[in-house]
Amino acid sequence: MAGATNSPVAPANLLSGIIVANLLREIGIGFITTSAELLNAMSSKRLFQSVAEQIATLIDEGAYPPGTRLPGERELAEKLGVSRVTIREAEIALQAIGRLEIKTGSGVYVSENPPAMGQAMPPASAFEVTEARLLIESETAALAAHNIDEAGIEKLEGLVEAMRSGSEEEANEADEMFHLTIAEASNNAAMVHTVKSLWQMREQIPEVKRTYAAVCIHDTQSRTEEHKAVFDAIKARDPAGARAAMREHFHRLIDAMLDATERQAMEEVQQKASASRERFAAATRIS
Ligand SMILES: [Zn+2]
Repeated sequence: MAGATNSPVAPANLLSGIIVANLLREIGIGFITTSAELLNAMSSKRLFQSVAEQIATLIDEGAYPPGTRLPGERELAEKLGVSRVTIREAEIALQAIGRLEIKTGSGVYVSENPPAMGQAMPPASAFEVTEARLLIESETAALAAHNIDEAGIEKLEGLVEAMRSGSEEEANEADEMFHLTIAEASNNAAMVHTVKSLWQMREQIPEVKRTYAAVCIHDTQSRTEEHKAVFDAIKARDPAGARAAMREHFHRLIDAMLDATERQAMEEVQQKASASRERFAAATRIS
């Protein structure tokens, strides 16, 4: 929708592609080596997700053809060296993305019609999706600051206002439109497609959706302020400022996710501790 204001479209896009590739490389390396936090976040990918990836790979390699029944939980648990609970979680995750069908009383089957390539969701964690958004969307915002037209600026302004004053649902919708409008304003169709795919991962991978929902509820105000900062920089046509503000937006989100993950881990530890306390307390009463 947005056009480059004073340069021919094709050369601008070609140039922006090269700039983006270079920036991503630089920022990717700089960012990862300087952020121990993010490395921790990445390794906190949950076990069932990597087991789901292993099962998906076995299916892709033809070990379990479409329509056939997957081996039982016990057999898969032994084969992959994990618990049956983890296998069950992995199967549920693969069912959610259309790779498996769980038929009650009959077993787990490999989908005959898996989602077409390009529509299938990867078994990515919320941290991985957010990391990808941070890297891609901060550069998209920088490009948008360079290329956006007046109509795009007006649209973004309305969306920031909708986030401030709208209901939770309206704010969520405005959030999505805000990020997509920036992608469109980057004037790069590859960027638009990538940002849309990342949003689909956020909405369609159950684990990612849950994590985002847990985090967003607590942060309406910071969310509005962060989007306003991105908007202000884009409006001022300040690519460096827009990039920094968008990174800050996702950094805050990753921090909030780390807090939520920590809380969840603490709860799990407490539950385990009280279960074993009960168990051993019962043993002392055996006469
Ligand atoms: Zn946002």
